[in-house]
Parts: sequence; C-alpha cells; structure tokens
Amino acid sequence: MSQSFAHRLLCWYDQHGRKALPWHEDRNAYRVWISEIMLQQTQVATVIPYYEAFMARFPNVEALAQADTDEVLQHWSGLGYYARARNLHKAAQQVVAEHSGQFPQDQAKLEALPGIGRSTAAAILAQAWNIRASILDGNVKRVLARYHTVAGWPGQTAVLNQLWAYAEQHTPSERVRDYTQAIMDLGAMVCTRSRPDCEHCPLHGDCQAFRHNTATLYPAPKHRKTLPEKQTWMLLIEDANGHLLMERRPPSGIWGGLWSLPELDPAYGADELEEACQRHFGLRCDAPEHLPGFRHTFSHYHLDIQPVRLSLTGYTHVQEHQERVWHHPTTALTLGLPAPVRKLLSAPLQPELL
Ligand code: SF4
Repeated sequence: MSQSFAHRLLCWYDQHGRKALPWHEDRNAYRVWISEIMLQQTQVATVIPYYEAFMARFPNVEALAQADTDEVLQHWSGLGYYARARNLHKAAQQVVAEHSGQFPQDQAKLEALPGIGRSTAAAILAQAWNIRASILDGNVKRVLARYHTVAGWPGQTAVLNQLWAYAEQHTPSERVRDYTQAIMDLGAMVCTRSRPDCEHCPLHGDCQAFRHNTATLYPAPKHRKTLPEKQTWMLLIEDANGHLLMERRPPSGIWGGLWSLPELDPAYGADELEEACQRHFGLRCDAPEHLPGFRHTFSHYHLDIQPVRLSLTGYTHVQEHQERVWHHPTTALTLGLPAPVRKLLSAPLQPELL
C-alpha cells in the first residue's frame, strides 16, 4: 500500500504540483531552510514576498550570521512568531561557527540547531539533497489523519507517534524531494482544511475518511479553552518635531527584541495617563487623544489595545537611552515592529483604518 500511496502522489505531482516556487530555484540547504521556517504557520502566498526580500538581503548563511539581530527582525516584521527569526539568526551563526558554513547532512545534527525540529530537518535533507527523510508538517498531518482516519488531536503524543509512523511508512526511497513537495502540495491544494476536493484527489481510492464521508472530522481539533483577555494603553507620545517615543522590548517574551510603543498598565484610568507618563517615563505630556481601540490575538490570549496620542511638553529627567529612542514615524517604520504597532504607525491619523 505504501508504494502505491507514494506512486499515486508522485503521478499527481507531476501534473499538478508546484514546481516554480522561489525556493525551488538554486535549491540548497540554506534556501530550503529559510522557506521551511517562514512557511511554519504562514501561507505560501504571504511568504513569497518576504522570502524574496530576505534572500536579496541575506543571500547565504554567512550574510545572515553576520547581520545585526535588529535587521533580521526587521525583515521578519509582519510574519509574526518572532522567536522563529531569532532562532534563525542564532542557527546561522552556529552553522558558520561549528560547521564551517555548511549545513550538516545529518538529521540529528540539523535538529541540534535552534528552531529546527524533526520535520524541518527532514524537509532540508529531502529537499536540498534528496536524502530519504519523512516530514510531518500541518498539511501532511491532515492528509495522513484523513487517509488512515487517525482519531485524536495531533498535539497528543500517541496521535503524533501514529502519524509519524505513517509518514515514515509512506516515504519512498526514490524521488524523495518530489514526494516531500507532493504531499505538502496535496494538503495545501486538495486535502484542504474545510473543503477537501476528494473527487480530484489521487488517494481517494482507499482513503478511509473519503470512504466514510468524514474528511472534515480529521484531524480532531484541540479542545479550545476560551482565550483570556488582557488590556493595555499604547502610547503615541509625540514631541514638537513629530517624533514618537519607541521602546525596544526585552529579548524574550511577546514581541521579544522588536521595537514597540510605550505601554501603560490598564489599571490607570483615562484621566491618570499624564501623571503615569511622568512617573514611568519622566515625560510631561498633555492633550491626550483617544484613538479607536482594537484587538490583537496571540495564540494564548487576546490583547485589547487602547491607543492614545499625547503631546510632549517637557522632561522631568533625561530620556533617551539605547532601548528608548525618539523616531520620526517614517524611520520608525523601518524598524522591526509587531504588526499592531506597524498598523498604528501607518495610519495614526486615519483611525478608521485601524
Ligand atoms: Fe484528503 Fe479527500 Fe484525498 Fe482523503 S480523498 S486524502 S480526505 S482529499
């Protein structure tokens, strides 16, 4: 059965698969690796312009290793999940320092690099060197869970182990590079999350979910708890030159290492913001203007952001230091910024765009 699974998939791929994505050109481990990391949690169409800009600036692992973290984050700005960018940078430095700039052709050594898990390591081996290795990303989990009607949420170890066993069973020993792309493409183009096109699927002859008309029940979703809600005041503090105070976030945690706007605890009332600015930032401000609030959702909570514009009238002590800098909004937009801050800086005078 497993050879026939791979064979059918490869025949389908030859006719319908994606063969001209930017990371298919000049294919090497570095280019495959960057694409794999960008594609985690992000759709191909979104990734393409980021990938091309990233490659233009960091064409090889040495260029990435030598870059400033800020610049790497800036090229990631908008893709979210910024730990991916920080790990990417660390891993590039490790490849240069410990492997003379050559990615190791070895699953365990690849997995030892920051941010590279079992599936990503396998994708690099298969796609860069055509070495037999099995991937199990979100698309592949969905195809296999349906084809074999694997019950349960893939985040559970037993379910995941079962899916890995099927992934390995089906991986052929030849044309592994094409097979890897084929199974990802099938998941993205045919066996989609909500509307699988089973009629045109090369696997429908013996797909268990198709047979029982239960495709959309697999894989089982995680039991979602209601996400907690948090609030914050986000301040656009403007000096007489129209410059805004920007702060760099601590290196770990939410938006780690990115530049953001100063925030205040939601426990402060709307009429206490000027006093809080003095206390926390040493700034005298007035004329608070409340912009429309909006919600940003992280994987584990909702953040209700209440933006407020304030005018700087004076200082109570010296302000600027390495992690807190006044920037013109145009310059600020060139920094590595979280998506909601970018949105605020791009449309501060057009609140209806928020
Ligand atoms: Fe997915 Fe349908 Fe193909 Fe089964 S037949 S693998 S459910 S698209």
